[in-house]
Amino acid sequence: MQCYNACDKKDENILSPGALKNYTKKSVIFFTFSLLVLTMILAAVNGNASKPSDAVVHQEWLQTNRDDIKPKQYIERVKAGETTGIVLSKLGFPATEAANMIQVSKDVYPLKNIHIGHEFKRKDFKDSIQVSYQISAHEKLVLTNKLGEPWTADVKERKLFPRISVVEATIQDSLFWDAAKAGLEDALTMQLVDIFAWDIDFARDLRKGDSFKVMYEESFDDEGKRVGYKILAAEFINRGYVYTGIRYENKNGDIEYYDEEGRNLRKTYLKSPVKYSRISSRFTSSRKHPVLGYTRAHRGVDYAAKSGTPIRAIGDGKVIFKGWKGGYGRFIEIRHNNGIHSTAYAHMSQYGKGIRQGSYVKQGQVIGYVGMSGLATGPHLHFEFRSRGRAINPLKIKHKSANPVAKNEMSAFHVKAKEMLRMMALRGQKSGKWG
Ligand SMILES: [Zn+2]
Repeated sequence: MQCYNACDKKDENILSPGALKNYTKKSVIFFTFSLLVLTMILAAVNGNASKPSDAVVHQEWLQTNRDDIKPKQYIERVKAGETTGIVLSKLGFPATEAANMIQVSKDVYPLKNIHIGHEFKRKDFKDSIQVSYQISAHEKLVLTNKLGEPWTADVKERKLFPRISVVEATIQDSLFWDAAKAGLEDALTMQLVDIFAWDIDFARDLRKGDSFKVMYEESFDDEGKRVGYKILAAEFINRGYVYTGIRYENKNGDIEYYDEEGRNLRKTYLKSPVKYSRISSRFTSSRKHPVLGYTRAHRGVDYAAKSGTPIRAIGDGKVIFKGWKGGYGRFIEIRHNNGIHSTAYAHMSQYGKGIRQGSYVKQGQVIGYVGMSGLATGPHLHFEFRSRGRAINPLKIKHKSANPVAKNEMSAFHVKAKEMLRMMALRGQKSGKWG
């Protein structure tokens, strides 16, 4: 209120007729302007002085935002580091309002728990405001505020509209290029690769003339926006072999791709390349080398076993190295079919029968025998697992089961698989090629 008094005094001075006489015209204009500014300041101070309660602010705010009759829509996507309060303020809600909204949604969805990339949408109607938060592809939180009423919160199922398409192509150039030309977007081509990655080495085994057919489903929300996509069934012909994948969700809600017989297309690695052994040295970033004496990282796991114990490939793949490799002695490296992983086996006493560099091996196939060739204090298998060229701890690999369809679900699966494949064949014909 300090300024209030001081300004009042000034006002009196300017407005007193005696004082005015002494001022030039220029000064009058200046002071008139000053008076205007002062009046504005006064108004502001007055406003602050009689600060209305939050409830009133809320009402006023609703009033000012409801002048427009046409519904307006604002969208904000959650960015890294943003809190619910920040996003709501970007949508025009003051902190007190945001707090109300968070409070009211507590029982149906903790609005404090938001995810990067998810969408907040504000819609203004004539007599209400609606804010929705996309929880998942299937659910959204809807906050509604009717004029003069408190906020309400509800979790609603998003109504989704599916569209099924079939794309087929023959590889002339590269998988991604030919798929794109046929109308398949990269994200779906990646899904296709993931489905068959355990059987087909997409980086190296594709041939001109290989072909595929994909049936996928896209889902759209009630505003026509695509919210998801997935491959329902696919067929890939690689070097004359036909691979089929069918999406199936089992009774536990697990989703996997299976072949027509219900075998899981995803494979897992054997937990250990040597049966009947014990781990004598684990994966470390540094340890004292038993032979060389100095400290260095141990990028693998040692399995102590009797000389001559069979060593098995932990997964299907191609032998990319077979031979003597310094301290590793007799050494084999296998590149696995997904093109990402490779495994190495060292200190062998001898190689498995028929194992050559370049040959394909099956999971469980004997590729060699435990020994102590190279730098080794005793018979053991030194085993390494690499992912994209980087050594990772083989004991830390998650072995998610890749079970086939359960026996009691097999008949349901067969019905579903038949239907999917029939649908893919029909739609494939219908879409045809129009040049
Ligand atoms: Zn070792």
